[in-house]
Amino acid sequence: MIADNINIVSEKIAERCDNIGRKLSEITVVAVSKTNPLSAIREAFSAGLTNFGENKAQELRDKNSELELNVNWHFIGHLQTNKVKYVIEPSTLIHSVDSTKLADEINTRAELIGKVQNILLEVNTSGEVSKFGLQNEAEVIEITDYINTLKNVNLKGLMTMAPYTADVNEIRKCFVGLRNLKDKLVKIGYNLSDLSMGMTNDYEIAIEEGSTILRIGSAIFGERNYKGK
Ligand SMILES: *Cc1c(COP(=O)(O)O)cnc(C)c1O
Repeated sequence: MIADNINIVSEKIAERCDNIGRKLSEITVVAVSKTNPLSAIREAFSAGLTNFGENKAQELRDKNSELELNVNWHFIGHLQTNKVKYVIEPSTLIHSVDSTKLADEINTRAELIGKVQNILLEVNTSGEVSKFGLQNEAEVIEITDYINTLKNVNLKGLMTMAPYTADVNEIRKCFVGLRNLKDKLVKIGYNLSDLSMGMTNDYEIAIEEGSTILRIGSAIFGERNYKGK
């Protein structure tokens, strides 16, 4: 079933890229495996996926230590500074940096293990109070300038979550907002390349608006069951 889902998602991504003249190679699919067992990750890996996303620090740590496969882990959830120690070694990319304090802790922990940690800044493009992330351009520029002074943190780009809604225009507005912000920062000299945006509900819109990293969970693994785990 997971392999079938991956085929369906891959075809949709390829078709959308084709329609708008984007290269498939510009897009990375992160399979969001949170709450799903290792067996599901193994199945997705067998079907060709190598990037997996988790939103809980201990869950990422535990899955990494139990999994025999060489996968790329992405930390995509809200990260408390006291939990950086769990994700720093396994994470290929931390998507959700939203404070200088967190960037500092990542820098310290990365230095301890001799690593330069790739990160993204999470931006709240929807204005929803329930969402984490930096609130505006000024905040993004301030933290970007700070991160550029840190030796063991490498800022690769921006991440956002659109609201969960059927209103396509509202979703698109968030993605356009993130892309415009990145383009503006690039124009004034910052070196950012990635846009992490697009989930099960909205990844096709995200592709149209320039996403380079899709974070897809339920379309690959099925509906999550938070109870009884
Ligand atoms: C759970 C989660 C996803 C994946 O959500 P789906 O709707 O299942 O695709 C993507 N990004 C973040 C930050 C998440 O927490």
